[in-house]
Amino acid sequence: MKALTVLKPQVAEYQEVPKPAAVGRFMTVKVERAGICATDFSIFSGDCSFVRSGEIVYPVRFGHEWSGTVVECGNEVRGFRPGDRIYSDSGISCGKCPDCLAGHYDKCRFTRSVGTINCWDGCFAEYISIPDYNAYHIPDSVSFDEATLIEPSAISYDAFRNVELNEASTVVVIGTGAIGMSAVWLAKYLGAGRVVVVGRTPSKLEIGRKIGADIAVNSTVTDPVKAIKDLTDGQGAELVIETSGSDKALYQGIYMTRNDCRICSLSFYEHDLDGVPVDHLVLNKISLVGGAGRFGNPQKVCGIFEKNPVKLTPIITHRIKFGEMKDFLESSAKYAKSKIKVMVEF
Ligand SMILES: [Zn+2]
Ligand SMILES: [Zn+2]
Repeated sequence: MKALTVLKPQVAEYQEVPKPAAVGRFMTVKVERAGICATDFSIFSGDCSFVRSGEIVYPVRFGHEWSGTVVECGNEVRGFRPGDRIYSDSGISCGKCPDCLAGHYDKCRFTRSVGTINCWDGCFAEYISIPDYNAYHIPDSVSFDEATLIEPSAISYDAFRNVELNEASTVVVIGTGAIGMSAVWLAKYLGAGRVVVVGRTPSKLEIGRKIGADIAVNSTVTDPVKAIKDLTDGQGAELVIETSGSDKALYQGIYMTRNDCRICSLSFYEHDLDGVPVDHLVLNKISLVGGAGRFGNPQKVCGIFEKNPVKLTPIITHRIKFGEMKDFLESSAKYAKSKIKVMVEF
């Protein structure tokens, strides 16, 4: 089978590799759709903190947003059969540690991330190997496109952990990438009375409005902190979600956050930050938290894809075939302004 592999920074090749075998609890799954994420572009470019830290080592069989169809099951697979449409956890549990042996696969401390850290061979390939204990059925009403958006949405879902939203709540989302957009979509579904998306590109802000934002603020023409203060009688938002990865946006987000409330960052900044307004944070009892997804989120988010009449799929701005992916990566700079989610079809 064909797999796209990053051999070293800036060099990706389609390699002919063995199709994964379906043995024991493992299934061979045909990849139907794969999403390209900012992390994938950074693995390709080499400008990636996980590469610098040694957590990602070349060559990398990358790709971590996917959905597929089971083609073959190992003899111990339970609950799945060929033809089933599935998605998976983003970390594959080891299956051997005491937690895994007790059936607590979500507690495994030896997980390998699909296509990224401690790499489990990723989804930019015709087939992927997935154990039944990390796999989930895609409901009939959820498309392969939507199921592929579960992974980024499951990261965004962390921002809402232990937060109660209601008609009076304002949620601000900074950034209009796939993580930001899924945060907008979730915020509205989870009950925020007012959702504000802050970004720099009018076409992306327009898509934000389509999937749940009540108000779009273009930070290239309006001071976003002033805009949020004006909207909230000077109080700030109950929840601010920073997804742009810009230092300045994080600082601005802190000033947008209401007293005693939360700002959650779902982004990587690729360096340590000096300018965080710590005294403002302390004085106003603002919680600055991080979110990166966790076991259990994908199933919850899948349920939202099933129930939410508002579709997240308008964030798919580009569709390419698997065979076009290498060219797309090499020329991605020219799509930077327009792309939100690139969907790869197989
Ligand atoms: Zn990703
Ligand atoms: Zn384990």
